Amino acid sequence: QNVVNKIAAGEIIVAPVHALKELIENSVDAGSTSIDVLVKDGGLKLLQITDNGHGINKDDMTILCERFTTSKLQQFEDLTSIGTYGFRGEALASISHIAHLTVTTKTKDSSCAWRAVYSDGKLVPSKPGMSADPKPVAGKQGTQITVEDLFYNVPSRRRAFRSAPEEYSKILDVVGRYAVHCEGVSFSCKKHGDADMGVSTTSSASIIGRIRNIHGSAVANELLSLEVNDKHLGFKATGMVSNANYNVKKMTLLLFINHRSVESTLIKKSVEATYAMFLPKGSHPFVYLSIEIEPHLVDVNVHPTKREVNFLHEDEIVELITEKIREQLAAVDT
Ligand code: ADP
Ligand code: MG
Repeated sequence: QNVVNKIAAGEIIVAPVHALKELIENSVDAGSTSIDVLVKDGGLKLLQITDNGHGINKDDMTILCERFTTSKLQQFEDLTSIGTYGFRGEALASISHIAHLTVTTKTKDSSCAWRAVYSDGKLVPSKPGMSADPKPVAGKQGTQITVEDLFYNVPSRRRAFRSAPEEYSKILDVVGRYAVHCEGVSFSCKKHGDADMGVSTTSSASIIGRIRNIHGSAVANELLSLEVNDKHLGFKATGMVSNANYNVKKMTLLLFINHRSVESTLIKKSVEATYAMFLPKGSHPFVYLSIEIEPHLVDVNVHPTKREVNFLHEDEIVELITEKIREQLAAVDT
């Protein structure tokens, strides 16, 4: 059974950034206003995320890494209405099968923080001969998740690992995405031992301020804001998109659906085609788009490795959004 779990986990978590994305989403879900990430060796040696969210009850720590048990999703029908993607109660479980996982957490009502170590879905002693039960430690409200030696028991994954700088840049990319999207939340990300932050935003920064911080002034000074609503189709989209003065060689698309960073080839292609009417050939825009759709209209990923998202009325919704972008670009153009 452990072997099966290990293989499954290794297929879901192909790179450190996949684990980190799930951990960031958990921190955001916990109502955190501060999320700090620390990385060693591209995330293979260490991936640590510290938040100030609501924390985890000590009683829940026993089952925290059991598959499907911890989740809000107890019943199957919930799968159609959660509005979230990813592992559905399996992120921590999966990580515990392919890494050394330590969780330190404190809720508001607890007088101390609790620390527990997990392996293969279960609590394990932090040192041989000690009890596996959570141990009281000093700490502030919130949760710190420490993932060490990712893929230590999955040699094929370790071999496929390219380079630490490459993995680190993917990590910075995903932290940067959430840093742009999450209003009122400060983010930081750095390499262990570095003084310099790879990403660093404050909780008070505006959306333009956050884009400036992560993507630079050249784009932050050339943004149009976007809003489209349609009650009938059951969606709302807001965003910040570059105007026709801004053009770079590669498109940046920050796409969120129901507050999850996702990919959509349809949206990417449609937006590119819209910009192609306004930008010189070979030039590309910056697009940040946050779409909220009634959860029952979103197709929750059938398989967690699938990072593409689909939703009902996709064509109509995308048409309305690109139409709005076209209008905005045309208005500035003339
Ligand atoms: P899911 O998020 O799908 O429920 P996870 O394995 O990602 O599954 O997390 C399991 C549960 O652990 C979450 O539902 C949540 O209750 C709790 N949890 C995980 N991370 C945090 C965190 N940073 N702060 C508070 N609770 C957390
Ligand atoms: Mg989760």
